[in-house]
Amino acid sequence: MHEHKIIIIGGVIGAYGAKFLARTNDNDVTEVTLIEEHKNENQPVHCAGLISRSGFKRINVNPDKFILNKVRGAKFFSRNTSFEIRTNDVKAYVIDRKVFDSYLLNSAIDSGVRFINEKAMDINAGENWTVKTKSSEFNAKNLVMATGANYKLHRKLNLTVPEFLSALQYEISVECESDMVELHLTKDFFAWVVPVGDYARVGIACYRNVRDELENFIKNLKQHRKVGEILTKQAGLIPMYAPKFKTEYKFSGLNLRLVGDAAAHVKATTGGGVIMGCLAAKHLTDKNYENGWRKEIGSELYLHLTIRKILNRKYKKHDDMLMLANKHKQVCYSADMDMASKLLKNLTAEFVRHPLMAADILKILF
Ligand SMILES: Cc1cc2nc3c(=O)[nH]c(=O)nc-3n(C[C@H](O)[C@H](O)[C@H](O)COP(=O)(O)OP(=O)(O)OC[C@H]3O[C@@H](n4cnc5c(N)ncnc54)[C@H](O)[C@@H]3O)c2cc1C
Repeated sequence: MHEHKIIIIGGVIGAYGAKFLARTNDNDVTEVTLIEEHKNENQPVHCAGLISRSGFKRINVNPDKFILNKVRGAKFFSRNTSFEIRTNDVKAYVIDRKVFDSYLLNSAIDSGVRFINEKAMDINAGENWTVKTKSSEFNAKNLVMATGANYKLHRKLNLTVPEFLSALQYEISVECESDMVELHLTKDFFAWVVPVGDYARVGIACYRNVRDELENFIKNLKQHRKVGEILTKQAGLIPMYAPKFKTEYKFSGLNLRLVGDAAAHVKATTGGGVIMGCLAAKHLTDKNYENGWRKEIGSELYLHLTIRKILNRKYKKHDDMLMLANKHKQVCYSADMDMASKLLKNLTAEFVRHPLMAADILKILF
């Protein structure tokens, strides 16, 4: 019988992956220890909680227990114009991240994962990985860092840190449609209004001065809508996916894997990382983890990054882009929030129907 010990540091994606790692068969026993500093009520939330319905199916999680709202479409705004996709179907859910995270943690514990509710203060590579918390020390040959966009331990181990945007979000009451999310395109990224119930999550991500950017955005909203008091403020970082970012290391016989925001498994178009992180985490059980996750989501993440680069480079053309989208709405109706390749497929089909669309696209790109 082979015995493996795995230590996982961090959160929601770590808990999702831990469940798969803890499954054992007759010849293999895997002891999985999950070290996560927060639990339930003291967990800081930094998420708009917008998750696609198809994404929940892909990760095989029933969202019923964490749904706060259902979304049927999206409105995109540029400086002078707008574009919307409105459907009868529920396309995405707005969820309660605390309930979702604790559901994944409890499923990991139910699968036999040992949960340590402490902060990993230090890591050292010797004969084993040694992870120190305030009260104990844990040893194993395999370490998974699912530490989110907190890169302290990356720096300690001299690992590359991804590029990131700063994000700030207020929960605030604001006049908006209850089943439509809003995306207001900006130079670096976008600002969002995600309706929750009698309040919305209003936020922005950018490379600098995030507080000023959000205050300005809310000031503009106030010019034509009722905006109430701020209920909560949530800040966080959004890592940018980089195709060459290494997610698997060998340290003289010791294995290290990175997953979730720690590995920048994030859609560069929207900053959404929950589904992509979970899809990557399933491959923690693969012999070749790096190949496994890349095969499933590598090209999707690359496409999201390409779209993000075009949006940022051509930010002066956002009006033209939205006008073009209005002309070819059907391309977007069956698009998938997570899988950018579906949009590309729809675009190809639309090219066949409207070859002149190429001229409009070339005008925007060049
Ligand atoms: C403002 C904002 C809005 C967002 N909105 C969305 C959205 O609508 N939809 C979406 O899909 N994604 C969204 N995201 C991204 C999403 O939140 C992340 O992609 C997702 O949480 C990644 O999960 P993770 O487990 O990798 O990291 P996290 O959720 O950050 O979890 C990492 C955990 O590790 C713990 N940890 C770190 N270091 C240690 C340590 N040394 N010891 C112990 N524990 C440690 C942290 O405390 C944390 O609990 C948003 C992000 C931001 C900032």
